Amino acid sequence: MRAFTYERAKTPQGAVLAFARTVGSRFIAGGTNLLDLMKHDIERPVHLIDVNHVGLDRIEKTNEGGLRIGALVRNTDLAAHPRVKRDYAVLSRALVAGASGQLRNMATTGGNLMQRTRCPYFYDINMPCNKRNPGSGCAAMGGISRKHAVVGIGGNCICPFPSDMSVALRVLDAVVEVLRPSGTMRSIPIADFHMLPGITETVNEFALKPGELIRAVTLPRPMGGKHYYRKVRDRSSYAFALVSVAAIVCPDGSGRVALGGVGTVPWRNNAGDAAFRSGAKAVADALLADATPTEQNRYKVALTERTIAAVLAEAKG
Ligand code: SF4
Repeated sequence: MRAFTYERAKTPQGAVLAFARTVGSRFIAGGTNLLDLMKHDIERPVHLIDVNHVGLDRIEKTNEGGLRIGALVRNTDLAAHPRVKRDYAVLSRALVAGASGQLRNMATTGGNLMQRTRCPYFYDINMPCNKRNPGSGCAAMGGISRKHAVVGIGGNCICPFPSDMSVALRVLDAVVEVLRPSGTMRSIPIADFHMLPGITETVNEFALKPGELIRAVTLPRPMGGKHYYRKVRDRSSYAFALVSVAAIVCPDGSGRVALGGVGTVPWRNNAGDAAFRSGAKAVADALLADATPTEQNRYKVALTERTIAAVLAEAKG
């Protein structure tokens, strides 16, 4: 690992000011992803700003009746929170489906949103990878692509976004609150937070500008209904999704679905919501209308329909 300097911020504002002082800074919280990437010599920060002690670790009710989740709330605590389990069960279930108990104890809400890809070519610094080295190419295209994305492919990268939590936040219409270096705040709808590779020219994966710090994620008023998170993977725990389905089924038969494992970003669209009453095939067709699978991951299209069908069958009892 390369040498770096370290400081511990005491406030969110202190953290963004520290970032602005040193070129090559990175914020660190749980460190469950960043430290691995530093050991692989993929991330090379010269200065780490520890934000674990800036006080963003509370879950509070909003004035609108929703929930405000501090960026430093640990995944374990968020999944176990009584209000989350009662009103946003899809989020609790998605969190528990992710990683391992040890990782969930460390991983934070903000860090989970900003996970980097698990594409094996990204981690092999001898291979071309547009995400690691923009313009170098994509070894997965024409390589081993069984676990890669089938939608949201912009020509530069086909890796699926790995976070389960973000798929649940997508179906819940969460909003990400961000602190700018100027001290002002801005809000980013979750639908705009993760960026398609074609739009980002392979460099920016998230709608954050340099030096901006995630403060919180807000959830709207609970919409009721039955909540589901079904994750299909190669083994029963500690594996990323081949396909995952986050769904909310309302008493009047309407509902919404977001997908993990199939898109370069957490995947949901209006057509999928509109097709909900027409059954699993209609929803899957709407969500994956623009799918461009490879020979190796074509199975994900059929698996998506079957996984949605399993959720709808469970909802009907
Ligand atoms: Fe890199 Fe993305 Fe291609 Fe994987 S799929 S090699 S992360 S550009």
